Amino acid sequence: LSEKLGGILDRLTRRGALSEADVDAAMREVRRALLEADVALDVAREFVDNVRKQAIGATVVKSVTPGQMVVKIVHDQLVATLGGDAQNSGNAIDLHAAPPVAIMMVGLQGSGKTTTTAKLAKRLTERQKKKVLMASLDVRRPAAMEQLAVLGRETGIDTLPVVAGQQPPQIARRALDAGRLGGYDVVLLDTAGRTTLDDEMMNEAAEVKRSANPHEVLLVADSLTGQDAVNLARSFNERVGLTGIVLTRVDGDGRGGAALSMRAVTQKPIKLIGTGEKMDALEEFDPARIAGRILGMGDIVSLVEKAAANIDAEKAARTAEKMRKGQFDLNDMRDQLQQMMSMGGLGGLMGMMPGIAKMKSQIAAAGMDDKLLKRQVAIIESMTPQERRNPDLLKNSRKKRIAAGSGTSPEQINKLLKMHRGMADMMKAMGKGNKRGPMAGLGQM
Ligand code: GDP
Ligand code: MG
Repeated sequence: LSEKLGGILDRLTRRGALSEADVDAAMREVRRALLEADVALDVAREFVDNVRKQAIGATVVKSVTPGQMVVKIVHDQLVATLGGDAQNSGNAIDLHAAPPVAIMMVGLQGSGKTTTTAKLAKRLTERQKKKVLMASLDVRRPAAMEQLAVLGRETGIDTLPVVAGQQPPQIARRALDAGRLGGYDVVLLDTAGRTTLDDEMMNEAAEVKRSANPHEVLLVADSLTGQDAVNLARSFNERVGLTGIVLTRVDGDGRGGAALSMRAVTQKPIKLIGTGEKMDALEEFDPARIAGRILGMGDIVSLVEKAAANIDAEKAARTAEKMRKGQFDLNDMRDQLQQMMSMGGLGGLMGMMPGIAKMKSQIAAAGMDDKLLKRQVAIIESMTPQERRNPDLLKNSRKKRIAAGSGTSPEQINKLLKMHRGMADMMKAMGKGNKRGPMAGLGQM
């Protein structure tokens, strides 16, 4: 435990520019995370190459490791690639056209087109007070039209009456006519998929698009799609032409790498995500959330953000100066402890390190919890300024009084003094060129 903890805290004050070696080491982890998230191989490679160039030379925020800094840079780039700030990324469904505005759904069979059609219709009706008509163009499966009709009854959305014997482009035209006559704002066209990317499906979709001239063509794709995501999105974009993507089953276990793959090959925004089978399980796409999921290192990202926000630059500089001179007194130690507390305490710091959540219980068992930090600060604050600068002044009678003043015991005060000596020794060693950071002494507890 102490070694690991020391190792982590060790780096708390490292600072500088990212070297090529720093970046490459972290990038290996990042590449693995992307592939585990099912980002397509080529996409992952290109993404990593691009970010690598940006990261080298970037400044490391005080108190985080180079590796953590790289993860943060990768994360930010991932968010930007996925569409940036959700509010300004043009993710909303575009209804700026003469009504009825046609929206066409395309995608493989089972990807969630019919479900998403009904969800979207419900959303536009409830949130934007639009009058929506849904039409099933799926003439291949007898049950498909009935499925949409059922969802229409469930959500209270009108569906185009079924007329036997019509082909998809004809149905699309009839839906638009009905939309015009019935004063609908939006007409949603739910097309038939296939189990694989075949020409018949593409030709049919392209034909429907020509006859309906939809304002939006949304590719509905399962977020669990792995390496096929690239081909899927590219084919539909090239052969039919897309305006956006809807990712479904984001409620599943997948890490959502398909989002990055599809976005990268089409440059089309991911407009919505499906998060369940229920009719209201349709949400706006949040690039930061998906980025965190793809990378699987969201905790490191928030650690870096917290560090950047919380570290008091001036105090750190002062501590560094004292370290150099080998004068690390109890005031400095208190500052360090308070800094740790402001970062969420030991538990917070630990919780943010992936893969060592288990250590938390060990820390609690060792008594190294936030209560300890608070107690230690209380002990130091019960001392006189002279005592804080020179702990050797503390005799047993004073220790007893400080213990009473801070609600602790003389043993706890001795422990604290021992820890301080450990840290001060470390400082001296650092001043002589040892690379270990000031917090390393904590590891000796
Ligand atoms: P289509 O063949 O593309 O029209 O696909 P469907 O709309 O019929 O959906 C196929 C199955 O996926 C249905 O059982 C849906 O309930 C389910 N489904 C669709 N979207 C989601 C989603 O976002 N999350 C989950 N968990 N299930 C979904
Ligand atoms: Mg369907």
